[in-house]
Amino acid sequence: MDKNDFLIPINGLTNGKTVYSYTVNKEFFESYGNVEIHDAALRITAEVEKSGQYVGIDCHMEGDVTVECDRCLDPLSLPVDVTALLSLKFGGGTEQEEDDSSGREVIRLSPDNAEFDLAQVIYDYVCLSLPQRRYHPEGGCNEKVLEYLRTGISVPGAEEAAQNSPFASLKTFFDN
Ligand SMILES: [Zn+2]
Repeated sequence: MDKNDFLIPINGLTNGKTVYSYTVNKEFFESYGNVEIHDAALRITAEVEKSGQYVGIDCHMEGDVTVECDRCLDPLSLPVDVTALLSLKFGGGTEQEEDDSSGREVIRLSPDNAEFDLAQVIYDYVCLSLPQRRYHPEGGCNEKVLEYLRTGISVPGAEEAAQNSPFASLKTFFDN
């Protein structure tokens, strides 16, 4: 996959709507040096609307990405369903015009931009849509790994210390 696959030819657009479709896989995220996303299968649909000087892009991203579970480290598939609403504006303008009245993200381009690269938008929106804490639903984690982690973090020497404690004899008493 080439990042150039996501270029939208602004200059070549005719008035009205043009729809672009892409698929995104793990190589896309690897090309950004992302090591958290182990696998990805996303469908991208970009509806580009040109009306005179206005260019609006509705970019819908849907599918799954696979990350590592924070708890058991097994692969964890996360659903992705996010939409970027962009307004492309050309030439200068007032500084603080990030959000126009329609609530769309305004992206400023110089007037001689012949194309717009959607790749960074796709990458940012998908990454930001992922939850901060990522783990399997209750009971879905790899039990073997959890067991290992439980025993692995027991404090060395705790066993002997327990035997030498005054309560050790009590324990023997109750065990009998
Ligand atoms: Zn897990």
